[in-house]
Amino acid sequence: MKDVAIIGAGAAGMTAAIYARQASLSVTLIEGYVCGGQMIGAPFVENYPGYGSVSGSELSVKMLEDVERSGIKITYDTVMKISKEENGFLLSGKTEDYRARSAIIANGASRRKLGCLGEGEFFGKGVSYCAVCDGGLYKNKRAAVVGGGNSALEDALWLSGICDEVYLIHRRGEFRADEKLSLLVSEKKNIKKFMFRTVSEIIGDDRVTGARLEDVESGKLETVECDGIFIAIGLKPENKRFEDIVELDHYGYIRAGEDCLTSHSGIFAAGDTRSKSFRQIVTAAADGAAAARGAVEYIRSNC
Ligand SMILES: Cc1cc2nc3c(=O)[nH]c(=O)nc-3n(C[C@H](O)[C@H](O)[C@H](O)COP(=O)(O)OP(=O)(O)OC[C@H]3O[C@@H](n4cnc5c(N)ncnc54)[C@H](O)[C@@H]3O)c2cc1C
Repeated sequence: MKDVAIIGAGAAGMTAAIYARQASLSVTLIEGYVCGGQMIGAPFVENYPGYGSVSGSELSVKMLEDVERSGIKITYDTVMKISKEENGFLLSGKTEDYRARSAIIANGASRRKLGCLGEGEFFGKGVSYCAVCDGGLYKNKRAAVVGGGNSALEDALWLSGICDEVYLIHRRGEFRADEKLSLLVSEKKNIKKFMFRTVSEIIGDDRVTGARLEDVESGKLETVECDGIFIAIGLKPENKRFEDIVELDHYGYIRAGEDCLTSHSGIFAAGDTRSKSFRQIVTAAADGAAAARGAVEYIRSNC
């Protein structure tokens, strides 16, 4: 039996593995798809200290090298369930079972897609899912933000400080965001709202040049010209499989604070899967460190 089993080898899981090994814990790091997680899909990471501008896949490789240097081999499997046993936890994988004294859930989340024409084609060529990460590329340009919740409005406000013009596109007549954010958006002179509109197509040549919008009431089409499109229609956590053992919040994220402690002693949640307000590589890595520390303390006092 290992000291800690970590589910997911994204920024959070890999950092947790490195910290746990440094504290001399034995570690199983289980990855269901590809090491690096969401980072792999980030064309430019410009806000992870120490690397200047780096592609997400390069950063993943660097993190993976650190994991391997600490003597950990990745186990490729998808964890389907965690159950409590007398001396620890049983993690049931698709191909194998794993036993550990403690567990860190670092299974991340995925960005919701619009599903319109051009979204995939122009990803990394003007289509982005992260304004904080890629907003700097649109200095003095025009950017559109799609969505009507807190993240969309936060993105629009962030971009309004960088771009000349920001177009906020929402399919309803009202935002689903905090009143304060809606007010701040209304006060910004360079944010123009396109309400009751959906994006039917993202258009461009070698990069995005605009979007075709459809009025949901009349069906009328119009084209808005812009240099970038930020899709902010939410993240999708996949934690149903863990809801029997740890408490989830209203949105499906695992309830845990800065210390990454979940509702179940001995189980920690790190990175985008945890209920928190800011989901980035650096915050996921910070969670990984905190969760590993929690696991060390748990093992020292309980095992
Ligand atoms: C396109 C894009 C661009 C971005 N750009 C930036 C940027 O420039 N700067 C920045 O700071 N942030 C950026 N982000 C956000 C950042 O990538 C994430 O916040 C961060 O990587 C989350 O790390 P994580 O380890 O919590 O989760 P993830 O990266 O989601 O990793 C979770 C891992 O767990 C694995 N997994 C899931 N379920 C299971 C299971 N049941 N069993 C085993 N393995 C499982 C997944 O395969 C995945 O590898 C971007 C995100 C996207 C999508």
